[in-house]
Amino acid sequence: MASKEIWVLAEVRGGAVTRGTLQLLGAARGLAAPGDAIAVLVGGDEGIAAGLADFAPTTLRLDGPGLATYEATRHAAAIARLVEERGAPAAILAPASSKGLELAPRISALIGAGYLGSCVALSLEGGALVARRPVHGGKAYEEIALSAAPALLTARPGGFPMPERLPAAGRIDIVPIALPDRLGFEIVSRKSTAAGRQDVSEAKRVVSGGRGMGDPSKFAMIEELASALDAAVGASRALVDAGVRPHAEQVGKSGKTISPELYVACGISGAIHHTLGMNTSKVVVAINSDPDALIFKSADYGIVGDGAQVVPALAAAVAKVVKKA
Ligand SMILES: Cc1cc2nc3c(=O)[nH]c(=O)nc-3n(C[C@H](O)[C@H](O)[C@H](O)COP(=O)(O)OP(=O)(O)OC[C@H]3O[C@@H](n4cnc5c(N)ncnc54)[C@H](O)[C@@H]3O)c2cc1C
Repeated sequence: MASKEIWVLAEVRGGAVTRGTLQLLGAARGLAAPGDAIAVLVGGDEGIAAGLADFAPTTLRLDGPGLATYEATRHAAAIARLVEERGAPAAILAPASSKGLELAPRISALIGAGYLGSCVALSLEGGALVARRPVHGGKAYEEIALSAAPALLTARPGGFPMPERLPAAGRIDIVPIALPDRLGFEIVSRKSTAAGRQDVSEAKRVVSGGRGMGDPSKFAMIEELASALDAAVGASRALVDAGVRPHAEQVGKSGKTISPELYVACGISGAIHHTLGMNTSKVVVAINSDPDALIFKSADYGIVGDGAQVVPALAAAVAKVVKKA
């Protein structure tokens, strides 16, 4: 009989399981029978596995040479091997982060499963998993019933609430995985990006700046507002192309697709390539000096004004409220 398990591929950043992973574990727990929601950790360590076991009835920790640090080809091959040895689950979910978007299509190619990217909601209908995702630049949603196992998909975690911890920690099974020493190429060095910053695809709140806030003194105001809101800093491609901000902060079609609880767009015109990356945010606030800017069409709240005046005023107001609380 086909397995009813739902696997969630755990993502680790800075030595800890990402919030997006835990949110998807919550979704899996809501969809699967008790015990069938399974966290799959490739590599990692005991502490990371224990962090998952607080939320997953079962954690499979895949252990083997060359799996300790993330590398897409190798980690995809490890998951494919798990499918081969344990049998295909009903579904495999991964966060729609840059890692998840890199990993899932590779697994799809290795195990011959269809793949659905960037889903925002999951439900069960007549026993089939139904995934909802935005189409036509977020102007409409499609719902797709996935009948073949495994249903392999990435989901934007922002749409799923954080689950409660389990009353008792789940079990952790170590699964040995042996892969060939080399899988096509060899990593010769790794370079880490700036540490200590929240990642836009993980953060609950994101404050982004565009060309309208592009000079360094103005962008410092974006950082100040982000800090007041405990938010990640994002940017439009205009600023990334100009070398003002790193690509890791870019929101949009050729950057990151995010679904935070709050998205604040400052001095961003709202071109479709940008809004494609943020239009599933829960609440959008736009600040722009042009009352006809497209971004206002994607916004729940709009402020027409000079960002250089509005953004610091907002930061000060937020800081006051936070201080009182
Ligand atoms: C294939 C492709 C992929 C792309 N991918 C992405 C992507 O991933 N992400 C992305 O962002 N873009 C992407 N783009 C580019 C996108 O089309 C836009 O060019 C880009 O988003 C514009 O950036 P912007 O809004 O910061 O700049 P602009 O379009 O120049 O807009 C600046 C805005 O700032 C406002 N402004 C000016 N001064 C002030 C002020 N003092 N106070 C407040 N507001 C002010 C203006 O009214 C204007 O609305 C892509 C384009 C292509 C072709």
